[in-house]
Amino acid sequence: MFGQQRGDEGKGRVVDMLAEECDIVARFNGGSNAGHTVVLPDGRELALHIIPSGIAHDNAVNVIGNGTIVDPIRFAEEVADIERLGIAVTPQKLMVSSSAHLVLPHYKQLEEIRELGRGAQGSTKAGIADTYAAKAQRAGVRVERLLGSHDSLLQVVRDGLESVQMARKEHGLPSVDIENEVKLYAAALQKLQPFVADTSVYVNQQLQDGATVLAEGAQAFLLDIDHGMYPFVTSSSTTAGGVAAGLGIAPTTLERSIGIVKAVQSHVGGGPFVTEIHDEKLLDVLHGDMSTIDAEKGTTTGRVRRLGYLDITGIRRANMVNGTTELAITKLDWVPRYGKSIKVCTSYTYRGETLTMAPDSAWALEKCEPVYEELSAWDEDITEVRSFSDLPQAAQDYITTLETWTGLPVTYIGVGPRRDQVIIR
Ligand code: GDP
Repeated sequence: MFGQQRGDEGKGRVVDMLAEECDIVARFNGGSNAGHTVVLPDGRELALHIIPSGIAHDNAVNVIGNGTIVDPIRFAEEVADIERLGIAVTPQKLMVSSSAHLVLPHYKQLEEIRELGRGAQGSTKAGIADTYAAKAQRAGVRVERLLGSHDSLLQVVRDGLESVQMARKEHGLPSVDIENEVKLYAAALQKLQPFVADTSVYVNQQLQDGATVLAEGAQAFLLDIDHGMYPFVTSSSTTAGGVAAGLGIAPTTLERSIGIVKAVQSHVGGGPFVTEIHDEKLLDVLHGDMSTIDAEKGTTTGRVRRLGYLDITGIRRANMVNGTTELAITKLDWVPRYGKSIKVCTSYTYRGETLTMAPDSAWALEKCEPVYEELSAWDEDITEVRSFSDLPQAAQDYITTLETWTGLPVTYIGVGPRRDQVIIR
């Protein structure tokens, strides 16, 4: 299951729904920079960052795979948040790969320093880039270190913090109480330790026994380190190829590839956005009431999202790379906010040529102009509709037209943020 756009497609709620039928829900990439909002049946909200969305279900075992990076402090906080909602988090329900990499506190500080200067990337300051950089430089620290003496690991944490203290001072940032940071990290390691396992062996054994595994993609296609709009990307593989590498399973085990598409296309952070809307009045309507769960603001960052028209050219590229077999469309209930007629981008003009598939370069995307087609909106409230044939004709036509333009069936349609507000086809 992958985000086919720029993040915040509503992956959390789709995974949450699919988790009911799955034995394992697994994260294969990224860290606590992801943000999923799940609404529980009783209406309470659960914000998840590194822990897979299956945690809200009794049946699913949740796996944080080797392709991810884990910040023990954020992990411990998230476990505590989930437990406060009365959901038990036990090693039988959650496993963390011993081969995943640890986010060290000074990686977050390095990012904080970088965001002050010319190299700022609008990052979540969760230490993602520096942790993956250390992994690629073969200088990272893996979760397996927890299985040995914590003292030597904590010395690495202390050394790291000392190495950036001077740079913080030079950038006018307050100095850090290093011993206190080390103490917090030590306590978080104790919380993380019981969950550590060889998850690759576990997942493969379960697959052999016929288990259904749901791989939950974090971030999205355009943020993929290889296929996204580099350098406005994340530091990991968000696409189908990342599943095999990030969970330690064979590519041949992948059966379905579900692409999540939000009808109101949004983006948080920098980078080209060909169909971006700049009309303040329209943006006001599309952002929604900021106090509601489905307002267009980031789960992790709280930042108001950039918004645009639905872009089929980007989805076509995501379909190609992910081998997408079906689409889940979220926020159909918000589509009439665009107005009586809805613009959808079906191709780009690039240097005088027509492109029906987006280029994979930020540089080229900056030069693309959107070509729109218009579809009719509807007036009816669809949030209580549960079957496709009960949708207004214009809403049915909107979905079937997207199917024609993408060449894929739409199997799930979100008509509201709650777990039950979905049409399954
Ligand atoms: P994720 O990171 O892909 O899981 O997405 P987020 O949870 O960050 O953002 C998706 C947003 O869309 C959240 O605010 C959800 O509550 C909201 N959402 C998802 N599906 C629907 C839907 O079908 N209708 C409405 N109105 N909101 C939705």
